[in-house]
Amino acid sequence: MGENSIPSFKAADLVVRPSSRPKAKQPTFSFGTAFTDHMLSIEWTLSEGWQTPLIRPLGSLSLHPACSALHYGIQLFEGLKAYRGDDNRVRIFRPMLNMSRMARSARRACLPAFDQSELLECIRRLVELDQDWVPHTASHSLYIRPTFISTESSLGIKKPTCALLYVIMCQAGSYFNDEAEPVSLWADPKYTRAWKGGTGDCKMGGNYGGALLAQHEAMDYGCQQVLWLHGGDHQITEAGSMNIFLHWINEDGEEELATPPLDGIILPGITRQSILELTSKWGGFKATERYLTMGQLCTALKQQRVKEMFGSGTACMICPIGRVFYQGETLRIPSSRQEISSRLTSRIAKALTDIQSGHGLQCDPPFP
Ligand code: PMP
Repeated sequence: MGENSIPSFKAADLVVRPSSRPKAKQPTFSFGTAFTDHMLSIEWTLSEGWQTPLIRPLGSLSLHPACSALHYGIQLFEGLKAYRGDDNRVRIFRPMLNMSRMARSARRACLPAFDQSELLECIRRLVELDQDWVPHTASHSLYIRPTFISTESSLGIKKPTCALLYVIMCQAGSYFNDEAEPVSLWADPKYTRAWKGGTGDCKMGGNYGGALLAQHEAMDYGCQQVLWLHGGDHQITEAGSMNIFLHWINEDGEEELATPPLDGIILPGITRQSILELTSKWGGFKATERYLTMGQLCTALKQQRVKEMFGSGTACMICPIGRVFYQGETLRIPSSRQEISSRLTSRIAKALTDIQSGHGLQCDPPFP
């Protein structure tokens, strides 16, 4: 039993079957294509509970064609990164937050509970084994993708009686850089990413597959991503698969860094939480969780009260927003060096990078 009496697998039981043919480690930064040599897999059945965790060579899964993860999307995933610090040690950024978000998604998907610390320890062992895959280049990292699927081989829509938790890893490319082109967003209430009582606050595959058509329509409008709106007042919720922040002078004349509150339709991003925790200590402006609407953004832009707008997430860390296409008009958001003298995006990116590379306290302890 785990520490909270959750029946769980134990990292101490982990069996490691190393690959006899490790691949050549060519740096490939095309996201999600170059996988490391090993994967972690842990099976669960209702009758026997969690099985022994196993690290084995990366390989295909064998699934029954009726598998309910494939038919009904009974599955979830996570995304976190390991970074190589200046001291050459490898650190995972705030992984317990991913473990607890994963546990919340599992509950929502009717998948079984597990001990979060035990899973993290298994993941640490996997990263340790494949640590040569963690890029040496600054601004590159190893992306860790825990995945949890129902393996129920029945077309009945029911709570799974068997499931598979597995973790794969791949190299990930560049994130924020001061010269990066700001992204353009298409804001149209036509599509909805999430709704109250739905699954938008969990990391389930259906949220992403369901967003793909809107993403393509955004591209037809010459935009790179979707600015997801919600409700009749066109609340600003998320940008693509990132949380969103507005740095502005609010209606009361206060300098504010605002992001929408976690009211069930926002994915509780680890980067979002980290930015709120960091900036609320900086002073000079308020860091607030509050509703923001397109009407408020348009008025603020007209009155030149917008300083910066950006998305946040593990993939990009910080992604400045340059323009928003809304109701047939292009809204220009200050984003160039000329427009912004002291960019908050740069300051936040530096603070996060410092932590990830070992100059802060919020990463897990490095491997020896
Ligand atoms: N929103 C959505 C919809 C996402 O998929 C992600 C990526 N996980 C985020 C926000 C950012 O979350 P995080 O900072 O944990 O990567």
